[in-house]
Amino acid sequence: MAEDHLNRITLALSEYHPAPDLALIEKAYDFIASSHASQTRASGEPYINHLVETALLVCKLRLDVASVTAALLHDTIEDCEGVTEEMLREEFGEDIAAIVEGVTKLTRVRFESQEEKQAEGFRKMLLAMAKDIRVVLVKLCDRLHNMRTIRFLPEDKQRRIALETREIYAPLAHRLGIHWIKSELEDLCLLSLRPEIYAMIKDNFARTKAERDKYVKDTVEELLHHLEAAGISASVSGRSKHFASIWEKMERNNLSFEEVYDLHGFRVIVPTVRACYETLGVIHSAWKPVPGRFKDYIAMPKPNMYQSLHTTVIGPEGSRIECQIRTPDMHRVAEEGIAAHWRYKERGQSASSAETDFDLHWVSTLVEEQKYLKNPDEFIQSVKGELFPEDVFVFTPKGDLIRLPYGSCTIDFAYAIHSDVGQSTIGAKINGSLVGLDHELENGDTIEVLTSKSQTPSRDWLGYVKSSKAKQRIRAFLKSEEHARSMAFGMELLSKELRKVKLSMKKVEKSNKLTEIAKGMGLRSVGDLYAQIGYGKVSVAKVIAKVLPDFGGEEEASEPTETSPLERIFQRAARASRLKVGVKVSGLEDIMIRYAKCCEPLPGDRIVGFITRGRGVTIHRADCSQVLRSDPLRQIDVSWHGDAKAPRRVKLTVHSRDSLGLLSKVSHAITENGANINSAQVNTTDSGKAKHQFEITIDDAKQLEKLIRAIEQVQGVTKVDRVLGRTSFGGEPSAR
Ligand code: MN
Repeated sequence: MAEDHLNRITLALSEYHPAPDLALIEKAYDFIASSHASQTRASGEPYINHLVETALLVCKLRLDVASVTAALLHDTIEDCEGVTEEMLREEFGEDIAAIVEGVTKLTRVRFESQEEKQAEGFRKMLLAMAKDIRVVLVKLCDRLHNMRTIRFLPEDKQRRIALETREIYAPLAHRLGIHWIKSELEDLCLLSLRPEIYAMIKDNFARTKAERDKYVKDTVEELLHHLEAAGISASVSGRSKHFASIWEKMERNNLSFEEVYDLHGFRVIVPTVRACYETLGVIHSAWKPVPGRFKDYIAMPKPNMYQSLHTTVIGPEGSRIECQIRTPDMHRVAEEGIAAHWRYKERGQSASSAETDFDLHWVSTLVEEQKYLKNPDEFIQSVKGELFPEDVFVFTPKGDLIRLPYGSCTIDFAYAIHSDVGQSTIGAKINGSLVGLDHELENGDTIEVLTSKSQTPSRDWLGYVKSSKAKQRIRAFLKSEEHARSMAFGMELLSKELRKVKLSMKKVEKSNKLTEIAKGMGLRSVGDLYAQIGYGKVSVAKVIAKVLPDFGGEEEASEPTETSPLERIFQRAARASRLKVGVKVSGLEDIMIRYAKCCEPLPGDRIVGFITRGRGVTIHRADCSQVLRSDPLRQIDVSWHGDAKAPRRVKLTVHSRDSLGLLSKVSHAITENGANINSAQVNTTDSGKAKHQFEITIDDAKQLEKLIRAIEQVQGVTKVDRVLGRTSFGGEPSAR
């Protein structure tokens, strides 16, 4: 048996391969002969027969030796105990192991749904999972042989596999341009799912074949004769249908076999669009058209870009004949379907559904072309690599497929559903478990987005997302938010400065002065003027200087005792910081302050504020080196408000000679001075020195100073440093 098996494969391979590595095939054969040794198929024959038949089908596709070898090994990981991918990698190399693993993955995917929409999603997902085109091709051969032997399986299993084949694998074969596999799979599905119908068609088909063949031949000749007389050069073909497509036609149009048999199909391909219409005229004058059967898909293409003229006429012997008339270009679109459609898209004539389409054109072309290559390895070299390395395919809970760039996360998915969903997403349930915003999606995930009305996009999101839609929408949101905040902030700044010169904002606003100033600066509106002030692009002083002459100033004072906006901000920040929540308010008050990470000012420190575009004010210590480097136009006066406390976290490093008993003494000094210790860490060095790191909560600069002095007093301490820079703590007010 082994001899026979190997001979058949060798023969099949050598028919198209100049120098196949037969040793590899033999090695794989020995491997499966022992690992599948005791296994039999449902038919009772040795399991290995299935593997050899699959390999022979792969040879029929004229694939490389690696594919044929992988076909022999394709069930080892799934069905043989102890066989792992690593083992295959060691024995047969990376290439073959990867194909076997890919086929195994596809085998594990089960399509159970009856919905067509789901089926399309699964097909795309399988292609995405396959990565290497050879995986899909080996899988198709595996499925074809399984379908050929499906009658030995229990009925329920037959049904499941046949349905899956009909919905997923036959259309996949069609997409890949392998029509012989597609037709055979469809016929086998019909045989399995509707055996009585298959038998009926088979009988009828056999009975009428000779007759039909002659009719088609005669009609083609007659048609060519008419066209020639009209000076049209054309190629005409009569179509032979496979059983499944005959049944499909019977069922769809509620026809008997005789009626379908009566419907002969002819295809006329002519060089130009003009010739298409001329051909139509020729056909209609030769034979009587059936009313209501003419369709002009050239003037009005189908949504999938299909173009042709369709007509049905009463042909020779009173039989109805259906004609499709098209140009070679239209023919390619009709044959390659969605793949050719993609090519249209690339030319810039995009269709709305194009986003979920596939560039399979190159696959079907290559499958076609490889017939003409001398060495199948050339073919494989040209299609090696991942099929859709740049994409990930995921599903909505309803089963709609969403295609996203590889590496996309929850946020990308949410924006793909709808911008509103994207804006308010707080996480998702993926395959039932909760995940965060930045969770990376995997092929086949089913994702349910969780939203909250209080959620809004933040700048960090830009660091996670991959899809351009999400990026655009987040940027647009941030920009509008930035503008609104700057406007509000500019307004507050101006109103505060006006109060200083005893002018009321209300009064100034009522006059036309601000509009005038805005226009004078080339701005569209007072709103834009506020925004410019808020951005720090226009100084308040400049605006005040322009306002003053008109109003004279020094009029009635307006609410002189009111707390200044910045004071209110500080109060709020202090409150928020005690509560350990970020400041987050809306409308006019939505001005954030943040403490600069470079110098981390504490209450009591001398400070300055800098307007950060659309993000409120950043507070620096006045002696911070960053301040000197910053644009003075953006600088504004700030001061700590009264006795407002803003407990902050501060990092200290305490250097000491040795660590013995020191930790408790230093800790004591800290708590003694009213600060809290959040964490402490000791690092001892070889030389007997120690470095203690503390994170403490402190109220202001004075307290810190006192505390540092107290630590320095502890015996053994050599140095105390305050550590600046990003701390890992929340609890301080920030710009979100
Ligand atoms: Mn198999």
